[in-house]
Amino acid sequence: MNAIVSRRILGSSISDTPEYFRYPDEIRDRFVATDDIEFRDGSRVTATEIWDYLTTVGPVKFPNLYDLSSLYGNRLSQDVTLPTTLKHNYLLMTMHDRMTRARAQGHPIVFVQGGQSVDPYYAAGAIALRPASTGIWARRQREGLSRNQEELEGRADKQKAYNAISFEVCNSAGYEHIQEGTVPADMVAPFTALRCSDVSYGTEAHRHGPRAKEVKLLLVDYPLDHQKDKDWSIRYFADNLRRLTRNIDELTGRTTTEDDLAREIKLHNEGRRLSIELADLWWSADQPPTNGKDRRDLFQLGGMELHGDPVASLSILREARRVIEQRVKDRHLAKGVQKDAARLFVCGSCVFPNDYRTEEAGGIIVGNDNHWSDITTLVDESGEPYHELARAVLSYPYEQPLKDRARWTVEQIKKSRTDGVLFLYKWGCNTQSAIARLLVDEIKAQTGIHTIIIEDDMTRTQTEQLQNRVNAFIEMVS
Ligand code: SF4
Repeated sequence: MNAIVSRRILGSSISDTPEYFRYPDEIRDRFVATDDIEFRDGSRVTATEIWDYLTTVGPVKFPNLYDLSSLYGNRLSQDVTLPTTLKHNYLLMTMHDRMTRARAQGHPIVFVQGGQSVDPYYAAGAIALRPASTGIWARRQREGLSRNQEELEGRADKQKAYNAISFEVCNSAGYEHIQEGTVPADMVAPFTALRCSDVSYGTEAHRHGPRAKEVKLLLVDYPLDHQKDKDWSIRYFADNLRRLTRNIDELTGRTTTEDDLAREIKLHNEGRRLSIELADLWWSADQPPTNGKDRRDLFQLGGMELHGDPVASLSILREARRVIEQRVKDRHLAKGVQKDAARLFVCGSCVFPNDYRTEEAGGIIVGNDNHWSDITTLVDESGEPYHELARAVLSYPYEQPLKDRARWTVEQIKKSRTDGVLFLYKWGCNTQSAIARLLVDEIKAQTGIHTIIIEDDMTRTQTEQLQNRVNAFIEMVS
């Protein structure tokens, strides 16, 4: 007999027999009438094919993703009438198949860091993947795992990387997948922006890993500290971007032209603009039109790198813009979100509370600064493309001196009608931990709203510690 043992922990039930989610048949007809996804190689997938994958292939290959427990912040969204969330999930589930095919078609895989634009990588015919995307690719190679099995395997991978790099790193820069060969990266070439101290540890570690001879290394040197208006600095970074595309050309055997970059900038600007419009719509609504996880997935699509295919991301964004506009008109309140939920804004890199648990506690995350900073920075399409891209990248608000970063963050907080600010960072995140106090003091001085700083542990073994502080904060600001 299968005894179900469950207990209540802060409003959520834990069971030794997982319950699995299924997309309900009654939404099928409506979903299959929605848009196709178009890909970079010109191919397409129809909504019917996506439906069939999510209801027959996905549950067998990746049962862990269909685990219904709200203890997992990356659980599939239950907002099944939002077609773009199903399409986003399809792209994540097919990451391994799609990336393997694209590499075989001659697109090198280049490891980058989060919070940077990826226009020049795609202009040169590469695929730019940040740590989160390499992790998704690696996990999609393991089939049939339960949630617990998947969590344990993921932690074992991370531990290997910490041992190989340094106990001080928080994230490990994809080392565990790239140097183990799970993800066949051809190059490690992130911007050395200030936001992430891990990128330096990680890039250096790739110099001595088991695949060091096969993986090309390049630093795209980002001049730090108030450089955005200095001419020499823009020219210097533009030269670094040229060096980057030349290095990718050595892998592909082709020559990237300024026209290639100009075309790519235009495409990525469309994504950035759509994300900004989508955010303005979402923030203007009386009540949240999606849950927090779907909001974040949609807003970050303008970064155009999570799926390893900017054209596919753009397909979803175009559709999402229309769907969200309609939901706002209909005053739609997203499933799982409480009316008058406390609106929270997250500052800092790489840590998020569990959206579902946050919503159960009466809150919702309405925005975040990291990554949003590069998405909201449009590139001028009228000038020389390397120069204009360098100018834009050096002006990312997240990389600016404190007062400038705070000014931009306060604008986002006001636009999103935030009730409280969480500054979250990981243990080992040197820049964000150093700046947290100064930034939240500045935000508080300018807005008067409540703020809290929480440090998360690097191995994510203490998610409950993080969540119960977030839930207490929600009570305070509600
Ligand atoms: S938490 Fe900080 S140091 Fe770690 S990967 Fe993120 S930005 Fe980099």
